Amino acid sequence: MARQINVVRQVSEFIKGLKSSRVEKASSATPSTFQPFNPSTLQPPILIGTAYSYLQEYLPHVAQYAVRNGWTDMVGLGRMVLSYPEMLADATTKGALTPKLICRTFSDCTTAPRNGIISGCYPLDDHYKARPEFQELKAVKKATGA
Ligand code: SF4
Repeated sequence: MARQINVVRQVSEFIKGLKSSRVEKASSATPSTFQPFNPSTLQPPILIGTAYSYLQEYLPHVAQYAVRNGWTDMVGLGRMVLSYPEMLADATTKGALTPKLICRTFSDCTTAPRNGIISGCYPLDDHYKARPEFQELKAVKKATGA
């Protein structure tokens, strides 16, 4: 996951380097079907860092650091939003998290749809725990050794 954070950081630094670099104007005598690249008019992409859910309790701290230092423009959350959608609100307003809601990366939310079962956080969310699909998921995992 550190590699993923670093890749986005390197892309961000590369883009910032492009914005400040000088590009020679292409000669009009050079036949080309391409427009000359001009970084001064380039609208930089918005970068979204990934894999932060793996940080679990440390996610808000690392995400804040990464955004504050320009390593990424924002942090995208996937599975963490299933188990704990209020995580960042809690971190910023309460300064504390609810540990039992933190995604522990068991991957049931992805194993289920890969097997034709509705996605959800079966291990941590009582709504999904009570669904019959949870038993179906358990059977699939047992059969496949997942
Ligand atoms: S099923 Fe597992 S990986 Fe998916 S949100 Fe819940 S705890 Fe996280």
